Amino acid sequence: MSALAELQALLGEGGLLQSPAHDLSAYENDWRGRYQGRALAVARPANTEQVAAVLRCCAKHGLSLVPQGGNTGLVGGGVPDGSGQQILLSLQRMQAVRGVDAHNLTLTVEAGCTLQAVQDAAEAHGLLFPLSLASQGTCTIGGNLATNAGGTQVLRYGNARELCLGLEVVTAQGEIWQGLSGLRKDNTGYDLRDLFIGSEGTLGIITAATLKLFARPRAQMTALAACPDLDSALGLLSLARGQAAAALTGFELMNAFSLSLVRRHFPQLQQALPPCPWTVLLELSDSEGEAHAQAQFEAILSEALTQGLITDAAVAQSLAQSQTMWHLRESIPLAQSKEGLNVKHDIALPLSRIPAFVRETDAALTQAFAGIRMVNFGHLGDGNLHYNVQAPEGVPPAEFLSRHEAAINQIVYEAVQRYEGSISAEHGIGQLKREELAARKSPVALGLMRAIKTALDPQGILNPGRML
Ligand code: FAD
Ligand code: ZN
Repeated sequence: MSALAELQALLGEGGLLQSPAHDLSAYENDWRGRYQGRALAVARPANTEQVAAVLRCCAKHGLSLVPQGGNTGLVGGGVPDGSGQQILLSLQRMQAVRGVDAHNLTLTVEAGCTLQAVQDAAEAHGLLFPLSLASQGTCTIGGNLATNAGGTQVLRYGNARELCLGLEVVTAQGEIWQGLSGLRKDNTGYDLRDLFIGSEGTLGIITAATLKLFARPRAQMTALAACPDLDSALGLLSLARGQAAAALTGFELMNAFSLSLVRRHFPQLQQALPPCPWTVLLELSDSEGEAHAQAQFEAILSEALTQGLITDAAVAQSLAQSQTMWHLRESIPLAQSKEGLNVKHDIALPLSRIPAFVRETDAALTQAFAGIRMVNFGHLGDGNLHYNVQAPEGVPPAEFLSRHEAAINQIVYEAVQRYEGSISAEHGIGQLKREELAARKSPVALGLMRAIKTALDPQGILNPGRML
């Protein structure tokens, strides 16, 4: 039997989609519109046994697979190449919530659950799953773990890796590793879970996960603050951390240009503060209640004003105002894409070195490319910037990108290296940064990564050409 006939028999009606009978474009193109691939077929298994059977079939026929969850990844890791020879393995049909253990504070879900559905399942039990991304309505928990996603609550709760206790994984050979442990302590050898988290579909297929839950805070409060420069923004972070400690759950940064893009493309969205060089969004999650959080905000912001760290501030007075503040921050990715493709950098730096990095790199870029516009925003509390370069006003973005992307990357990534940062803080490597990783990671680290890849996927059928 041919591989496709075998897959069709394994997966049944609706389990295998092929062109031209089905339109596969939603699976073949990435969210940014940067990568357009072509799949041999889309396999949509409904359970772990079917995933394992698909893997065994692909291994037997030497077919390569590209796993995909919500297809919101930003580095081209989850879409097929242009050969038309890869199987796209979509986890979207696997959406069961397998169970909640309220005493153990754990939740076990299948990989295709959207992040929003996971948050809702926790909330239904009065608990919190804190991972939080602007793409949460579409991205899946499997994709979040495969990319070790970050988002806006890392400061307090950590990234996806830190929120996962156990995994169920299908190996390249089609075996099922049952590692859905709910243990917070388990030192029984190599940590296989941590090997699969962040592996971007190159080592195994994540089919389910046991996640950590938390008590819900009694009050959540948001404020915007205007900072004259990045040193002040860092000063504000230290001040807020000192006063609020673990209650500080969000500290997001937005430069003036990123907010002006939101103003241009989403004029209906209210901006509580007038334009200023840097706007910070702070969030406090308080276990004592609203009055306490309000008092804490007032103390932090008035001290910051006295010290000259901020020039203006607005504290949300209602849930709606707080949502509008978050909406502002979360609209930046969409506002950028409405403005046109730009050169994206998802970088991490030691917090203390961010002001100097930005001053120096902004200057180098503007000198090399007159008129460019810097979209600089991100999770300042985690030392993670989305440091993106937009074409000059009026210059066609695609043309600008194809002419200058390599030179821009060179300037930015050289500086990242000098400042001891990382070229990928939370989006991963995928296709976009594969060459950059090869050029910048140490030969020893790359050698160890390749040894792991060969040991787990000797045929090289899992997401080939991604990451390594
Ligand atoms: P996909 O895009 O489908 O896949 C991503 C990678 O994981 C691919 O390499 C794929 O092969 C692999 N993969 C997917 N599912 C599995 C599985 N079950 N087993 C093995 N491998 C798998 N990311 C952040 O970290 N922080 C943010 O704040 C953030 N904000 C975003 C905002 C917007 C508007 C958008 C569009 C994206 C944002 N992202 C962010 C990026 C993206 O949402 C995350 O990378 C997310 O974790 C991807 O999940 P997904 O299900 O869409 O994965
Ligand atoms: Zn981000």
